[in-house]
Amino acid sequence: MTQRLALDGGSPAIPYLLPSVKDISGRDIGEEELALVTEVVRSGNLGYIYGTKVKQLQKEWAQLYGIDNAVAVSSGTAALHTALVFLDLGPGDEVLVPAITDMGTVIAVLLQNAVPVFVDVDRITQLMDPNKIAEKITPNTKAIIPVHLYGMPCDMDPILEIARKHNLYVVEDCAQAQLTKYKGRYVGSIGDVGCFSFQQSKQMTTGDGGMVIARQDELCGRKLVQCADKGWPRELYRDHLFLAPNYHMTELQAAVGIGQLHKLESMIERRRQSAAALTDSIRLLEGVYPPGDNDYGRCTYYEYALPIEPDRFSVSSEIIAQALTAEGVKTAPGYLPQPIYMYDMVWKQITYGKKKCPYNCAHYPQPVQYTPDMCPVAVEACQSMLFIPWNEKITVDMARDIGGAIRKVLTHYKK
Ligand SMILES: *Cc1c(COP(=O)(O)O)cnc(C)c1O
Repeated sequence: MTQRLALDGGSPAIPYLLPSVKDISGRDIGEEELALVTEVVRSGNLGYIYGTKVKQLQKEWAQLYGIDNAVAVSSGTAALHTALVFLDLGPGDEVLVPAITDMGTVIAVLLQNAVPVFVDVDRITQLMDPNKIAEKITPNTKAIIPVHLYGMPCDMDPILEIARKHNLYVVEDCAQAQLTKYKGRYVGSIGDVGCFSFQQSKQMTTGDGGMVIARQDELCGRKLVQCADKGWPRELYRDHLFLAPNYHMTELQAAVGIGQLHKLESMIERRRQSAAALTDSIRLLEGVYPPGDNDYGRCTYYEYALPIEPDRFSVSSEIIAQALTAEGVKTAPGYLPQPIYMYDMVWKQITYGKKKCPYNCAHYPQPVQYTPDMCPVAVEACQSMLFIPWNEKITVDMARDIGGAIRKVLTHYKK
């Protein structure tokens, strides 16, 4: 006999509100950030050019990542776009991106008038499958963007090997992977360029914001800093060397960022401890694959992404997510309900004007036709995950309660 689910009128497993990244309940933001922001406001200068905070954040981020070049920008999408400006991508170029990611990854490619080509993912981890990359490479392919989802690293060694063989750039999308490690190294410092987001839901936040890091200061004749600064070599004179956006982060965001960065390791440690407690409390359940460290990866738990085996349960992941939500754990049935290429922007090729560039342009004569099942594993994977919001204010005790709710629901729906 299983317990009556809250969805069926039983009492919820968690009768209190769990902390959420949508407000202070789930975010470690306070006096440190306030003091730094106050300093900026009192200084009267809010912009990066004459300020010190953006420069300090860039310097500290670069030091942390053991890399010389870090440029703070206005979002993760801006970071990715800056990276592709840096690599001088353009019409006719193809960029490999995974079928499961945030649209920001795809937008960056399209903004450079390059064509996104979707690579299928691993059924369990949902990360880009290195075995599916080679078949998507053409003479037009210029770069690969592995996306480290949910705080887990992609398997970088085979990806780097393919990239080397075909002379491709590697841009790491680390928007969900601050301080994630692959074989002892921070992701973002492994490929040619690493991109981060500080959007409200990420491990550390500046509300919106991002960072680009690169091992080389200059690539394709472009300095990284100019790629987010109108192509302007400010230290020299007023000139604009190539087409580039203005994606500056403000001093206000950087002030918050510095406060956040100083506690990032401790915030991630708390995420890891509570996630470990949750994993421990559901380890005996069948049909689930709790996330965590593996042979090569250190997980920093952007969210607690729990892959499930839908065949083991009598209802869909959507119903399971509803039941968990009723128990007090706001759960989504997967990160995305469908692969990213199924959304109108990509699917219907809604880009610049009515001409469908870059899919259909003089530099890319073969028309692009995406099909729903071009990445079949991704389609299935999207239906096979419980996506549980995570943050640094979830305690070990709360994590055990969440585990109890998951056990209650999954035991109930067990086939
Ligand atoms: C959040 C995110 C982005 C985009 O970052 P924004 O700051 O929202 O623009 C890109 N890629 C992934 C994987 C993300 O999670």
